[in-house]
Amino acid sequence: MAFDIDDILPDRESAQQFYLKYDPKEVLGKGLSSVVRKCVEKATGKEYACKIMEFNDDSVEERTSTLREIQILKLVGGHPNIIDIIASFETPNYVFIVMEYCPYGELFDYLTKVVRLSEKRTRQIMASILAGVLHLHSHRVVHRDLKPENILMDSTMNVKITDLGFAAQIAEGEALYDLFGTPGYMSPELLHCSQSDDAPGYGLPVDLWACGVILYTLLSGLPPFWHRKQHLMFRMIMEGQYTMTGSDWDDVSETAKDLIRHLLVVNPDERYTAAQALQHPFFNQERTRRRDFMAKRTLKAHIILVWSIHRLRTLHYRPQPIRGKELLENPYRFKSYRKMIDSTAFLLYGHWIKKDEHLNQNRATLFQTEEKCDLIRHEQQLLEQKNANATQA
Ligand code: ADP
Ligand code: MG
Repeated sequence: MAFDIDDILPDRESAQQFYLKYDPKEVLGKGLSSVVRKCVEKATGKEYACKIMEFNDDSVEERTSTLREIQILKLVGGHPNIIDIIASFETPNYVFIVMEYCPYGELFDYLTKVVRLSEKRTRQIMASILAGVLHLHSHRVVHRDLKPENILMDSTMNVKITDLGFAAQIAEGEALYDLFGTPGYMSPELLHCSQSDDAPGYGLPVDLWACGVILYTLLSGLPPFWHRKQHLMFRMIMEGQYTMTGSDWDDVSETAKDLIRHLLVVNPDERYTAAQALQHPFFNQERTRRRDFMAKRTLKAHIILVWSIHRLRTLHYRPQPIRGKELLENPYRFKSYRKMIDSTAFLLYGHWIKKDEHLNQNRATLFQTEEKCDLIRHEQQLLEQKNANATQA
């Protein structure tokens, strides 16, 4: 955002305290009644951002709301995902809020540059936003204007929620009715308040609706509810009419879509809280993956165990697996072959060859074709002996 350094600065005289300590630099952003400038602390040379808000002398309401922003910033500061307030100065017409400086600017600009983010990056950003929201809600502070323009990136690309100009602290059970926020991020129950006098009001869940809109936008590059006619867009919001189909959603995981479905819920009582959202598997993919891995390993171990028991039980009836080389070297090792060999031997010899092992009969001989020759020789010997006996006789 390029604004000229010569943009009108607040009256130096009345804002002396601020100018004594800080040197104002270029404008970082502008709102309806505020300008945010970079400033440098004179004593240290450190860079900060300063939100300078102007209000009319007689507008008590404006002054009160500005002072409330400071009060809430002080209440919720000190969290890694909430902008830190450093100091504040007040003059009759201006309030200066000195905050930590976020050199990478708005998430909105980052998103415009990259159009849509990877799921991994979205997970990191969304987890930080939700952690910030959880912190706000733990102080019963509802932000009411969560959107990528109010989410900044610090020097380490860490996410910081800023602009608590619409924020309010509510008591347990207390409901709000005012129409605050930015149209595309407004929740159904908040819009309901503007349309009906007997609306039950709204509370902390409006921030989770806005988180749903942000998550949808980060993943697809498009807003979930959009119509050129605003009243039709509001109707879409109130009816929860959005889709997650088309090529923009092809690469988006079911887990991410599931989280969106739990955030963009019309009924605020059924909508996820920040704590529930942070527990969603979308943020615990590593844990889920590890659990799946362990489950698969256990299943594999069980299968092996069952198979081994079954194998042991049926081993008796099953042939051993046969390896080619072993078969050639020692076929008698294998039960099925052993049976075949023995029965063949029985056929051939008319008796169990095993019985005659002491006669130097070797089972291996069964694989030689000489057995038959031996038989013939044996028969010849018998014949010769018979002839000899006959001659003698
Ligand atoms: P408004 O209430 O007018 O919207 P914001 O607090 O949102 O005021 O600030 C307006 C813009 O100024 C932001 O959207 C952002 O671009 C810029 N800005 C605000 N605070 C910082 C900061 N701490 N560091 C860098 N830029 C900032
Ligand atoms: Mg803003």
